[in-house]
Amino acid sequence: MNKKIKRNILLNPGPATTSDSVKYAQVIPDICHRESDFVEVLAKVRKDLLKIVNADENYYSSVLFSGSGTLCIDSVLSSLINKNEIALIINNGNYSNRAVHVCQYYNIPYVELKYPDNLLPSLLEVEEALIDNPNISLVYATHHETGTGILNPIKEIGRLAHKYGKIFAVDTTSSFAMIPIDIKEDNIDFLMSSGQKGVMAMAGISFIIGKTEEIEKSEFYPKRSYYCNLFRQYDFFKKKGQLHFTPPIQIIYALNQALDEIFEETLEKKYQRHKQAFDELYKGVKELGFKFYVDKPINSGLLLSIYYQDDKKFSFEKLYDYCYKKGFIIYPEKVIKADTFRLSVFGTITKEDIKDFLEVFKEALALMQKK
Ligand SMILES: *Cc1c(COP(=O)(O)O)cnc(C)c1O
Repeated sequence: MNKKIKRNILLNPGPATTSDSVKYAQVIPDICHRESDFVEVLAKVRKDLLKIVNADENYYSSVLFSGSGTLCIDSVLSSLINKNEIALIINNGNYSNRAVHVCQYYNIPYVELKYPDNLLPSLLEVEEALIDNPNISLVYATHHETGTGILNPIKEIGRLAHKYGKIFAVDTTSSFAMIPIDIKEDNIDFLMSSGQKGVMAMAGISFIIGKTEEIEKSEFYPKRSYYCNLFRQYDFFKKKGQLHFTPPIQIIYALNQALDEIFEETLEKKYQRHKQAFDELYKGVKELGFKFYVDKPINSGLLLSIYYQDDKKFSFEKLYDYCYKKGFIIYPEKVIKADTFRLSVFGTITKEDIKDFLEVFKEALALMQKK
C-alpha cells in the first residue's frame, strides 16, 4: 500500500506540487534503460508531449534530455545556428537573459533587443531588426517570463519571424500545459519545457519539440556542445527510440504518469483550474493592499510578482518562514532588482488551496504587526 505523503503547496514557480500517484510512479523494480519496456514508455511520453501542443508527428519531433529546463535553451541555441548566421534574442526578463548568456558562452553571434522586464517587446523593432540583419536565422523569445509573470506575444513575434523566413524558437518552460499552445497556429518552430513545471512531474527531464525538417537540416551545423547537441539526440531517438546517455529512468516514469493524469483531467479543465486558482490569488493579494510589478493585461495568469509592503514592519523572511511552517512554499529568491516576491499557481493546486494559503498569509501579516 502506498502511504499518503504530506502535501506541501508549492507557490514557487517550479518545481510544482505533484500528486501522490506521480510520486509513487517512481517506485518500480530496477530496470535497465535499454530494455524494451522502458523504450515503450519513452515512445508514449514523446507522443503525449506532442499532443499537448497539438503537434503533428509527421512534422514535429519531441526530443528528451536529462537535465533541467535550461539545458534545452542551451541545446536549441548551440545546435540550430549555422555558420555565418546569427540569432535574434528578444530579451525582457531573466530567462531570455539566460539565452543571451548561452550565446555568449558559445560565441554564437546574436542581436539582442532588450526591454525593461515589466514591458512587452516592440513588434515594430522586431521587424526592423529582421530587416536590418538579413543573416538572422533564428528568432528567440520567452513565452511566460517566470521572473515577473509577463506573457509575451509569441504568435505575433512568430508571424514576423516567418514573414522573413526565419525559424522561431520559444522558451515555453513555464507555460507548456498551463496555457493553451497550438504549435502551428502560434507560429512556433521549436519550443522547450521541463518536467517539473506545467506537466506536474519531477525535475530532471526536459524536452524540445521542434520541426523535424529543421533538426535534420542542422546535422552539419557547427557543433558547440557534445551532450546537448539536438541533432545527435534526435538521431538516437530516430534510430533506437532512446536517449543517447543514461536517462533518469524513474523520473521518466513519473512524467509518464503525470501525462496520463493531464489527459484524464483534460487540458481544458487544467487551464481552467490554473485560471481559477490565479483569480483567487490575485483578488486576495490585491484586497490586502499589495501592488503588482506587471500590469494585469500583460500578466500570464499564472504568476504574480508582488512588491513588498511599504511598511517597516513588513519582513519577507518572516512571511516566508511562517508560510513554510504551515506547508506553503513561497519562493525566497529574487531575480529582478525591485523588492518583490513571487507567487504562482503551477502544479496540482486548486482554488481551495489558494483560499487556505490566503488565510495563512493574513495570519503572517497580522503577526508582523504585533511585533
Ligand atoms: C524554469 C524555467 C527555465 C528552466 O530553469 P531550470 O532551473 O533550468 O529548470 C527556463 N525558462 C523558464 C521560462 C523557466 O520558467
